[in-house]
Amino acid sequence: MGEDITPPEVEREDIHTIDDDRFAPESVCLVTGAASGIGRAVALSAAANGLTVAATDIDEDGLDGTAQRAAAMDAEGAIETVPTDLRNDAEMDALVDAATELGDLRFLANVAGLQHVDPIEEFPMDAYDEIQDVMVRAPTYLAKRCLPHMREAGGGCVGNMASVHGHYVTSDKVAYNVAKFGLRGLTQSIAAEGDGDVRSFSVSTGYVKTPLVTGQIPDTAEQRGISEREVVEDVMLGQSRQTEMLAPVEVGNLFLFGFSELARHLNGGDLLFDGGMTLTYA
Ligand code: NAD
Repeated sequence: MGEDITPPEVEREDIHTIDDDRFAPESVCLVTGAASGIGRAVALSAAANGLTVAATDIDEDGLDGTAQRAAAMDAEGAIETVPTDLRNDAEMDALVDAATELGDLRFLANVAGLQHVDPIEEFPMDAYDEIQDVMVRAPTYLAKRCLPHMREAGGGCVGNMASVHGHYVTSDKVAYNVAKFGLRGLTQSIAAEGDGDVRSFSVSTGYVKTPLVTGQIPDTAEQRGISEREVVEDVMLGQSRQTEMLAPVEVGNLFLFGFSELARHLNGGDLLFDGGMTLTYA
């Protein structure tokens, strides 16, 4: 079981490459949360598809790890790292400036996120504010700053990492739930204002094997007196028809599909890849 819950590295052969004129070194893809988990996988998938990537995160060591991984897999596109705190507008301005210096800024992936677990009555408002700032305000601010560049480049696309928690909610995660519903509202707002030139989509998955999730498994198993396999199958995937979590690279592939011409009619929509979690029950 130990092996099953280790977050898998992104391997080059698991990344799908899409034949798309815009997937070329002159096109820049800005990816937030790129130091870890899903954001790292999106950055690596974009680089393997030939895009130049502006990879950002608050975690500088993690960003270095992403760049090293890209070098190890001999990715076609370059990854430039731009450490940024998404709670700071001046830093985000500098990030967008840095990204535009790399080429035509066409793609934005808003992936960074964090979690806080507490009931509403006890929810600390500073944690609430930080979650809204990083997961809703920063994506909105980055869209505001990136859209003019996308229009100037002749078109672009914003992909937002939502969640099943942007469709239905669990208790004790009020800030996260509200943020993910908000991100879907942002997605549709960009679609409404993008005039067909700038598209937008969201991605809603259930559990993905990232350090954020797999790190909780041993503790949950101990707290509940069950095996780690039972935590995955019964607690995390209890309402899913699948018995395995998604791998981060599968989410990276979804973002690149969403950015590509294959998805040219995906605008404001949500890629709900939750193994049936929110639409079925057994
Ligand atoms: P992760 O913890 O591995 O990555 C999140 C990244 O966001 C980290 O690298 C972190 O440093 C960065 N970040 C946090 N605050 C920041 C700030 N102020 N400025 C800049 N960067 C900041 O988590 P993950 O599992 O890869 O999650 C990524 C996204 O996917 C999140 O939005 C999360 O809600 C969403 N998501 C995750 C899952 C899952 O099961 N892992 C499922 C659905 C949705």
